[in-house]
Amino acid sequence: SFRAAERLGRIKPSPSTAAAARVRELKGQGRSILDLTVGEPDFDTPAHIKQAAIAAIEAGETKYTPVNGTPRLRQAIRGALQRTHGIEYSDAEITVGGGGKQVIFLALMATVDAGDEVLIPAPYWVSYPDMVRANEGTPVIVPTSAENGYKVTAAQLEASITDRTTWLILNSPGNPSGAIHTEEELSALAEVLRRHPAVSVLSDEIYSEISFTGTPAPSLAAVAPDLRHRVLVVSGVSKSYAMTGWRLGYAAGDPALVGAINTLQSQTSSCPSSISQAAAAAALEGPQDFIAESVPVYRERRDVAVAGLRAIDGLTPLVPDGAFYLYVDCAGLIGRTSPEGKVLADDQDVTFYLLDQAGVAVIQGSAYGSSPFFRISFATDLGTITAAVEKIAEAVAALR
Ligand code: PLP
Repeated sequence: SFRAAERLGRIKPSPSTAAAARVRELKGQGRSILDLTVGEPDFDTPAHIKQAAIAAIEAGETKYTPVNGTPRLRQAIRGALQRTHGIEYSDAEITVGGGGKQVIFLALMATVDAGDEVLIPAPYWVSYPDMVRANEGTPVIVPTSAENGYKVTAAQLEASITDRTTWLILNSPGNPSGAIHTEEELSALAEVLRRHPAVSVLSDEIYSEISFTGTPAPSLAAVAPDLRHRVLVVSGVSKSYAMTGWRLGYAAGDPALVGAINTLQSQTSSCPSSISQAAAAAALEGPQDFIAESVPVYRERRDVAVAGLRAIDGLTPLVPDGAFYLYVDCAGLIGRTSPEGKVLADDQDVTFYLLDQAGVAVIQGSAYGSSPFFRISFATDLGTITAAVEKIAEAVAALR
């Protein structure tokens, strides 16, 4: 029978995937559920991107590509990084993979030995700690606070670094907080990093263009060009261009690290799908209207959701500067009692209560390493958001 490897015991399935399965199950039982768990744009992939994929199929671009992507895709990525970061990356500094997620995993696999420490500010994207653990590293969670806008500070970074620290994972705009590190905040982190040359930064910028500040989120690589070889910029087309299913992400950084990631890539998937590469190249080098049009839509949804949730006694939503999530402080609900007599002891209980009582699916803050909170996604239509906020308000009003 199946005997699991030791490394499997260190990780668990992604809570977002688990939440999606629960929603499907309830819907299967005929319940109508307002689903605010999804971490992907509800928009369709723009037509010119789909056309580029169709054209690639018809032109016979259906074979293995170089491990580090087609020359056209690499050129498109370099162009995009030049546009957003003002940095001229060479081909040897670019790697591509089946989503930003795969690139992050391979970057950790290439660099983390047993006992190496990876600093992960909380709340964090659910996958980071498990990816570190899968590669035998030790995730070191750095809790952030409301006073600092849920961003890691220079002092916290300084205090968390040990001689085992290999990486700081910086995710701006953050999932689930939506927090964006300003240039000043990044400069302060860079000052600390200059004193600790063994620490690299995995800068997860997958949401960088979904920003409500008027400009894309700044990058440490651009703010501190002297640290460029210690910053692995990770991004992809999933979120900005509504291309989650195409599975195409990339990273830019130190050529030695990029080469190591490519070696691992050559022994895992060889290369991402040639068709997705053609589509991603079109996304990155083509017209950028989709981003300009979708960001104000997200922004309006954010504002509607924030206003609605703020009006509910016991809930305090953080106002995100980017990405498409709201991280909602639900400390005011802890200890209250449901009509069935169940005391809500933690954010997992709150999440179950909202699912049962309101038919609204959200994800508990404990999944992101910060409680008591829950995350809602506003990558869904305004009607669903409005209805969900109303249902949440009714369910909260029913608590004693
Ligand atoms: N990083 C963060 C913070 C995310 O939220 C996600 C997706 O949910 C990813 C990376 C990975 O995206 P993809 O693998 O689709 O490029």
